[in-house]
Amino acid sequence: MNRFLLLAMLATMATESGAIDFDNLKKLEDRIKGATGQSSSAPQAPRAAPGPAPSQVPSIPPVGNVPEADEVKIGRQIAGNLLGAAPLVNNPALQAYVNRVGRWVASASERPDLKWTFGVIESNDVNAFAAPGGYVFLTRGLYRLLRDEADLAGVLGHEIAHVVRKHHLKLLQKSQAIDVGSNLLKDQIGNQKVTKTLIGSGAEILARGLDKDAEFEADRMGVVLAARAGYDPFGLPAVLQEISAASADSSSVALLFKTHPHPDERLARLGEAMGDRFDALKRSKNLQERLVRLP
Ligand SMILES: [Zn+2]
Repeated sequence: MNRFLLLAMLATMATESGAIDFDNLKKLEDRIKGATGQSSSAPQAPRAAPGPAPSQVPSIPPVGNVPEADEVKIGRQIAGNLLGAAPLVNNPALQAYVNRVGRWVASASERPDLKWTFGVIESNDVNAFAAPGGYVFLTRGLYRLLRDEADLAGVLGHEIAHVVRKHHLKLLQKSQAIDVGSNLLKDQIGNQKVTKTLIGSGAEILARGLDKDAEFEADRMGVVLAARAGYDPFGLPAVLQEISAASADSSSVALLFKTHPHPDERLARLGEAMGDRFDALKRSKNLQERLVRLP
């Protein structure tokens, strides 16, 4: 079972683009529009006094020059491919909820204006994925480990950080799946062959993972984003502890363990980075009662 998602993603590389599930993605995007609208989650979201966090995030170095519209197109292809391998959990209330929380946390990031799209996908693996342009998915298996909304905010914060820092986009550039130097990208997207290469590289990155430093950076930034959004910043560390408790040879965490540093190592690095700077925020909102429960 653990290899299902990975194999399915890789399998869709080999087939024609018929496996890409844009219908599912479109439905999700439409639903989010209806559910959250422009005002996003503001009326319901927690707002704590600004924490000490913002100054801890160094500014983003300019990377490449992929226009945002192209970045979104690239991410959409990869997200569609992922949904072809594992569809969304059929629970509109859950999807709307995850989008409300995700968009609120993203609004605290350096890229608040991206069209952020979040979803919970049908897989019992414990994992989460981000694609360029603002697409973020977590599995049912990971969602079920969450105790409250602060945990969710921490997990989404980590993935949002990958998008904000363009970790996957940079790797795609490095692998030369996209040619940043040329202006041809616009014409290339939609071209079957280029799309296939792009999606192949995207799936490969999701399967192989980013480098460790990118993961540690996303952890640090995820905590900061959750805190900025008014949540208890210890949500992400709490989830990492849960994952750590799951044995490494448990099949549901095999892919996560393969693509990320061990949760204990991530916790140690986070502990160093956080120090006691977040202690004052320990009593920020957890919102346990608001988490949409999944069977
Ligand atoms: Zn990550």
